[in-house]
Amino acid sequence: MTDLINDVSTENDVYKTLLESTKAIPWKIDWATLQFVYIGPQIEALLGWEPSSWKSVEDWAARMHADDRQWVVDFCVSQSKSGIDHEADYRALTKEGNYVWIRDVVHVVRKESGEVDSLVGFMFDISERKKTEQELIKLQKELEELSFKDGLTGVANRRMFDAVIETEWLKARQNKQPLSLIIIDIDFFKEYNDFYGHLQGDDCLKQVATTLNNIATRSRDFFGRFGGEEFVMLLPETDENAAWALAERCRQSLFKKQIPHENSKVSQLLTISLGVSTMIPSQDDEHNELISRADKQLYQAKQKGRNCIQSA
Ligand code: GH3
Ligand code: MG
Ligand code: MG
Repeated sequence: MTDLINDVSTENDVYKTLLESTKAIPWKIDWATLQFVYIGPQIEALLGWEPSSWKSVEDWAARMHADDRQWVVDFCVSQSKSGIDHEADYRALTKEGNYVWIRDVVHVVRKESGEVDSLVGFMFDISERKKTEQELIKLQKELEELSFKDGLTGVANRRMFDAVIETEWLKARQNKQPLSLIIIDIDFFKEYNDFYGHLQGDDCLKQVATTLNNIATRSRDFFGRFGGEEFVMLLPETDENAAWALAERCRQSLFKKQIPHENSKVSQLLTISLGVSTMIPSQDDEHNELISRADKQLYQAKQKGRNCIQSA
């Protein structure tokens, strides 16, 4: 008999030692009183709160980030009431006022009658995993942004333009509003590269992009690199006259930058030609029509001698 008692207590000691030497923090809550019957001493090392300060579930809920509290408490209570084992991730408050990401894994212990007797569980420190997760999310966001950004100039790229023109075209069609497009092409840029070298050509493209990027200021106005030394400006709810005025502002702003272009046949300074088209989309039109019309106008502007605007 004595041996049996000894065995049991030895066994309990073994369990206790095991539980208290794991990284996970064990705990037990009595369901009837909602009091902690036990919490592993490791809790103090992790959060700073003494084990004796974990008295009731209120202490647990109070030491949780305000943004997590409501759903975590509601979820855990409802799962426990239904007798379902569950787990929840939340930010636990440390005594110093910081937060540590915790995964609480909960097992519902029932009485023979089927009623809930107690909850037992482990808290795991998952802050490292969360950090990696958050870094991954940030990286993913950066990647997404990068995929819509032109690598050389930093303005929106062709892929972004394709997406924007599609949605703006549909909006313009729906609201029967004019949508304007300006295609901008640098004059004699081949000669620029030949004369100044490709690297300076790249710098010049950056300068052009930066200058033109700030010209259209309404929230849905779009500016981006169309490809090579061509840029586009898409202007929702903008009629022909307003679009022409913006095109002229582009032409003048760039000219005022006074970027030397000794080998240009129109000027000693860098100039651009611009093609403008405006459409109120009808049911049968496609947005490619807006692009090809602006492209034709650009061709006309080049034919007319460059450093000018043509609009349909
Ligand atoms: P036009 O006045 O008729 O437009 O003459 P252009 O020489 O500007 O036109 P063209 O389309 O013949 O030449 C465009 C040049 O732009 C050719 C190409 O080398 C240059 N280019 C395109 N992309 C880049 C780039 O990323 N960097 C540099 N440096 N040059 C580029
Ligand atoms: Mg070109
Ligand atoms: Mg050109």
